[in-house]
Amino acid sequence: METFIIGTQGNQPFKIASTMVSREHAKVTIGDDGQWNIEDLNSTNGTFVRNQQGQFVRVSRMTITPDTFICLGPDTALGCKFYACHLKAESDDYSREFALLEKYAKEFSAKIANVERTSEVITKSIGVVSLALLAGSFLIPDQGTNVQLLRVGTALSTGSSLLYSPRKTIKSINARYSELFNCPNPNCNGKLSLKEIEDCQCMKCKAHA
Ligand SMILES: [Zn+2]
Repeated sequence: METFIIGTQGNQPFKIASTMVSREHAKVTIGDDGQWNIEDLNSTNGTFVRNQQGQFVRVSRMTITPDTFICLGPDTALGCKFYACHLKAESDDYSREFALLEKYAKEFSAKIANVERTSEVITKSIGVVSLALLAGSFLIPDQGTNVQLLRVGTALSTGSSLLYSPRKTIKSINARYSELFNCPNPNCNGKLSLKEIEDCQCMKCKAHA
């Protein structure tokens, strides 16, 4: 079994400078069976792990994986955030982390593209139906009916933009993924752009794959 005591005076393979991190803040163990566990060592500011929804939850003891994103102290610029796998890597090697970030970035781009595609299909379909109704209103000689058709067409194009707003969906995808695009360097706390993830380098601290 391997044990890492993580803190400003811990035995983890990288330095921690944050004043919000205790001297011995948390313990990570890697069992002979390959199981990873994290335990808070009664730290002053708490130990957190990021859940599936991208939010940090406070833990006292929990089974994790090498890809678990850990935050010691608060989820602010003062917290110390890193992926568990960094305990097993050379301190300047972020290749596993950037591979993960690339996976998240691909998911993000696919989701945005999907929303844009759906929105285009909806807009086009409504356009076609409205146009058909407009054409119908010219072709049908009965004045009552053609006014009705025009009204339905107008209501359809106005109502659809109220009912379906791709901007809102895109905003929530952006919010969800901006949580995931943290720099993997425990002492950086920068947010990475898609370009930085693609280039596998943080412009702020120069951490790279
Ligand atoms: Zn950085």
